[in-house]
Amino acid sequence: MSAQIIDGRAISQEILGRLSREVADLAAGGKQPHLLAVQVGENAASRVYINSQRKKCEGIGIRYTLDELSADTTEGQLLEHIDELNNDESVHGIIIQMPLPEGINPMKAQTSVAPDKDVEGMTAANMGYLVYGEPNLAPCTAMAAYTLIKSLDLPLRGKEVTILGRSKIVGRPLYLLLLVDSVTPVICHTGTVDLKAHARNADILVAAVGRPGFVTEDMVKPGAAVIDVGINRVPVLDENGRPVLNEKGRKKMKTVGDVVYDEVAEVAGHITPVPGGVGPMTVAMLLQNTVLAAKKK
Ligand code: NAP
Repeated sequence: MSAQIIDGRAISQEILGRLSREVADLAAGGKQPHLLAVQVGENAASRVYINSQRKKCEGIGIRYTLDELSADTTEGQLLEHIDELNNDESVHGIIIQMPLPEGINPMKAQTSVAPDKDVEGMTAANMGYLVYGEPNLAPCTAMAAYTLIKSLDLPLRGKEVTILGRSKIVGRPLYLLLLVDSVTPVICHTGTVDLKAHARNADILVAAVGRPGFVTEDMVKPGAAVIDVGINRVPVLDENGRPVLNEKGRKKMKTVGDVVYDEVAEVAGHITPVPGGVGPMTVAMLLQNTVLAAKKK
C-alpha cells in the first residue's frame, strides 16, 4: 500500500475540539447552541443516526432535542410544526430526519426550514449561496468531502477534480464548493459516456455513487487523492466466496465504500477509508453548521 490514509476520524476530532471551545465561549455569553431533530414515525436506521447525533452534540455542549411526530402526521401538519420551530427563538438548527412517511414530500419539508436554521444546507437559499460562491450553511456531506480535500494542504488551483455522482447532497454542492478554489471540476453520472476516462484524468477523485466496488485501480491516476463518500452494506464472505452467517443464522454484514480500497490504495497518493473517512466528518459538519447558526443569531 502506497497511499497515505486521510484519517476522517482524527480530523473530525480536531474539528470537534475547536467547536467545543466555541460552544464554551457562546455559553459564557449566555447562549447554548440548540439542535432540534424532527422525526416522523419510527425507523430503526434513523434511530442509529439520532443516537449518534445526540452523543456528539452533548459531547461538546450542544443541546439536542428530538421531536417525535406520529407516523400518521400529514404533510400539512409537519409544515405547520416546522413553521413553529422556525419561529422558536430557543432553536438554532433544525434537521428533518429521513425517511419521511409516504405522502410527505421530503423536498417540501426540507425547504420549509428557515434558511438561518437550515443546518443540513438543503434550502434553496443556502444552495443559492453556493452558486454565488459564498457558502453559508452548506450540505454536510459535501462539506465533509470538501474539508477532507482541503486538509491535504495541496495547492488546489488548476487541479482536475472528478466527482462521481450528481446528488443534491454530495455531487452538486461539492462541485460548487470546489469552484471557489479554482479547480476544474467534472461531474459524472449515469449519462456520462466515458466515466473511466474522466476518473483517470482526476488529480482528486470523489466517489459518491452508492455502489460497492465501483472504483477500481485502473480508474485512478497514480498519485491521485481519492475521497470515498459511499456507504454500502455488503455481506462478509469466507475464503470460498460464501456469505458468513452470524449467531442468528443471518448473513454477517459490513460497511464498505464505492472504492475497492486495497487495490486503489496501491496507486493513489491519498485515500479515505470506509468507515473512518467521510462518515465521521459529516457529523462534525452538522455540528459546525449548528454552532455557526447559533453564532449568527
Ligand atoms: P444518490 O442520490 O443515489 O446519487 C447517486 C449518484 O450516483 C447519482 O447521481 C447517480 O447518477 C450516480 N450513479 C449511480 N450509479 C451510477 C453508475 N453506474 N454510473 C454513473 N453514475 C452512477 O446517492 P447519494 O445520496 O448522493 O449517496 C451516494 C453514496 O454516498 C451512498 O453510498 C450513500 O450511502 C453515501 N452517503 C454517505 C454519507 C456519509 O456521511 N459518508 C452521507 C450521505 C450519503 P444519476 O443522477 O444519473 O442517477
